[in-house]
Amino acid sequence: MAKIEIKNVSKDFENNNGTILHAVKNVSLTVNDGEVVVIIGPSGSGKSTLLKLLLRFWERSGGQIRYNGTEIDEINTESLYRNVTMVSQSTYLFDATIAENLRIAKPDATDDELMAALRMASAEELVQALPQGLNTPAGLLGGRLSMGERQRIGLARAFLSGCPLILLDEPTSNVDSINEGVILRALLKHRQGRTIILVSHRASTMAVADRVYKMENGQMEEQAI
Ligand code: ADP
Repeated sequence: MAKIEIKNVSKDFENNNGTILHAVKNVSLTVNDGEVVVIIGPSGSGKSTLLKLLLRFWERSGGQIRYNGTEIDEINTESLYRNVTMVSQSTYLFDATIAENLRIAKPDATDDELMAALRMASAEELVQALPQGLNTPAGLLGGRLSMGERQRIGLARAFLSGCPLILLDEPTSNVDSINEGVILRALLKHRQGRTIILVSHRASTMAVADRVYKMENGQMEEQAI
């Protein structure tokens, strides 16, 4: 289960010339277990910074974040990463087989588990079509996998991790509309038992949301859907 409470969270960055940029300003949001929340807003509005605060990539400048009632600062990193996973704009595949690339998320996963996760992400057939299936070295593929296909493998990795909270940072911004549809449908179909926060500048992603928030200049407000 994953419930997140974000209260009055801010993040300031100091620029090279010493000026302070308020990237996230006093944002509050509660995401209940099993909810899908979409945060939209223009580029530079602070969406990605907010997600990074949820993974403690940055230190907050102010405010509180709680997971299932526990202060984020009291959770050790290993436990945090066991519970929260991120799918970002593009999925990086290491120079290893597709199976090894997936097992980053769950080292002891069986091939059947890998295939099940790929199926959930609508990526099963594309991996089966590779020369050696799961055992195809990603490095040999060059440009053979499209960005959209890579993102589907990234989503499979997130499903395989079993993390109850999935953060998606512009997961469809670099993919064509067909792959975007495939990815969003896969998320919707397998949302049960997961809490999802999806950040995007694309309005099309709002279709999967229980609630939509708009971020502008670091501030966030709920949007009617
Ligand atoms: P979005 O995800 O909505 O495109 P970001 O969260 O990436 O927006 O950025 C919000 C603001 O914070 C932008 O003005 C960006 O330039 C600034 N910013 C992001 N990361 C850093 C950083 N590491 N150092 C300084 N400024 C940053």
